[in-house]
Amino acid sequence: MTEKSFLVPPNTEIRLSEYDPDSTRECRDRGEAAEELETNVQRLQELQTVLYAEGKHSLLVVLQAMDAGGKDGTIRHVMGRLNPQGVHVASFKAPTRRELAHDFLWRIHQHTPGRGEIAVFNRSHYEDVLVVRVHNMVPESVWRARYDHINAFERLLADSGVTILKFYLHISKTEQKERFEKRLRDPRKNWKFARGDLRERKLWENYMGAFEEALSRCSTRNAPWHIIPADKKWYRNLIVSRILVQALESLDMSYPPGEPNLDQVSIPD
Ligand code: ATP
Ligand code: MG
Repeated sequence: MTEKSFLVPPNTEIRLSEYDPDSTRECRDRGEAAEELETNVQRLQELQTVLYAEGKHSLLVVLQAMDAGGKDGTIRHVMGRLNPQGVHVASFKAPTRRELAHDFLWRIHQHTPGRGEIAVFNRSHYEDVLVVRVHNMVPESVWRARYDHINAFERLLADSGVTILKFYLHISKTEQKERFEKRLRDPRKNWKFARGDLRERKLWENYMGAFEEALSRCSTRNAPWHIIPADKKWYRNLIVSRILVQALESLDMSYPPGEPNLDQVSIPD
């Protein structure tokens, strides 16, 4: 299998079978990855502080994956040491009646990051072209129109100063089986398993088709998708952390200046 770049270029037809979920390219081993992850996490802490202090930009991280794909683990290992005051994690479950009474982006928009903030979406508006499509929850004409709605919505956010990074955590069907088996065997993980997950697993190919279309149609310059090989958790964390650091560094942020003549201030006893 040829190695593909993580970034999905705009207007590119994606075939997930061409992406190896078990790839660990550009990294010699786990130990090396752990060291670099630590460096990246520390760098992210610094970058978050400047983001917050400067108050100009914001960051939106979107995580999508099949069940047991590692969304939670990525949040814990990569984002878990950021200052919670500046981070908002939003997990999107099946919509409530009230949410369903609105357009599909209504519940999403309220969780987008304000200036200086980071928002992490554990599942997102993409569910409305994934699970909704796979289960025919709305007519095809309705979900088909959503790719354009999503692109327009993300353009609005980007035009408003939000840096958007989207990650599809790509696991193999075999890896999912192993993770489910662990959830069944380990009493501390039982709560993570739902019989309904097996129903979704049966629809694996349909989900792959739905992901392919979302990745192909909704990766834009200002809101790119990345396909992250995610069978190896340590590699997944490493690559996501790298991409976050690069994106925040490219914003060229700086601390705001203090009040004038601070060098003349002395603190009274
Ligand atoms: P875990 O990985 O810990 O199981 P999870 O994100 O799978 O976490 P669950 O409560 O198990 O959380 O599942 C949430 C469910 O909500 C998923 O099956 C998802 O597809 C579904 N969901 C999310 N958004 C929508 C939507 N817009 N319409 C219908 N279903 C949705
Ligand atoms: Mg689940």
